[in-house]
Amino acid sequence: MSDLYKKVLYLTEECRITVTEMCKQAGVTRSIISEFGAGRTKRLSTGTLMKICEFFGVTTDYLTGLKSNDTIRCPICGFTFPTNDEQGSLAHSEYHISFERMKNEYKKIYPLYEAEDMSAEGIGFLEGKISLPKDLVFDTVEQMLKGLFSQSVMAKSEGHPQFEEYAAMLLAQPRFKKALPRADYKKLCDIYGATKGIEDGNLFDKTGQIQSPVFATQPENVTLLPNNKVRLIPLYESASAGFGVTANSTIIDYMPLFITSDFEAESTMCIKVKGNSMYPKIEDGDIVQVVKTPTVDSGKIAVVLLDEDEGLIKRVVYGEDWIELQSINPEYAPRRFEGAEVQRIRVVGLVKKIIKEC
Ligand SMILES: [Zn+2]
Repeated sequence: MSDLYKKVLYLTEECRITVTEMCKQAGVTRSIISEFGAGRTKRLSTGTLMKICEFFGVTTDYLTGLKSNDTIRCPICGFTFPTNDEQGSLAHSEYHISFERMKNEYKKIYPLYEAEDMSAEGIGFLEGKISLPKDLVFDTVEQMLKGLFSQSVMAKSEGHPQFEEYAAMLLAQPRFKKALPRADYKKLCDIYGATKGIEDGNLFDKTGQIQSPVFATQPENVTLLPNNKVRLIPLYESASAGFGVTANSTIIDYMPLFITSDFEAESTMCIKVKGNSMYPKIEDGDIVQVVKTPTVDSGKIAVVLLDEDEGLIKRVVYGEDWIELQSINPEYAPRRFEGAEVQRIRVVGLVKKIIKEC
């Protein structure tokens, strides 16, 4: 058996696909591969090689043996992993199986996931950009919660809440409640809402300190979740609003965040970023998690108030008798405040984490 044929077999095995199925999907004539495998033809045409390479996401150098290692992109599930790597192969295998299961289980809605990635669909759905047939709503939302959960697990593995708790938190967000038909929302809350408060539109925040018209609530009615390390942290529409500078300091949403102490909860807030001055690190519409603090080290990205009026998110650099507010986007020049001008700047928070719109 030729090395090249062995590689083709290796790739099909890794991607859990038969040679016949590969040929069908890659647009290769089955008999050409059979003949080649049996040694009755000595070589494959460039066209055939290219199709196989493209199908598995490998280079022709790898397939023809010029290069011994490469990465495979599974044509079924899209998982990318290195060749000849046991860990990668195992990780793929696990992912592949759950992917197939998901595809099987959610046959009806699967095409929607293929059309757009899961998170995009979820958000689009909640924003009313995608309307679903009534009988698919429940399935879709449940699947979406699972998708968002798996993303959040990847983002944070330590002390992460269980899926049911996470789902309960998402369901407590006004946007979910608003977007879902009442019956579906109730059903989801029955299954995942560990609190009776969620169904009433109440909040399960342990401290009960967050006040908002959306969550006008009596905390004593609320059954607490067993894991109280995830808190709903207020999201403000701008840095100025978050620090109460502008008259319009309304909380626009709550973010479920992993928080370890009451102190941390009280000193944390989220701000929705406007503008592109910190691009590409922070993009328009991203959410930043901010810890309130009056000082930051030079070079840190901070929330600062300019003239006690304008809230800005900038890199703060200190000099002998000056402060410079720097943008990451080179289109924005740094602004230096020297001497007495330094007084115009007040640091109010440190940007701890950037949460990308998903
Ligand atoms: Zn796969």
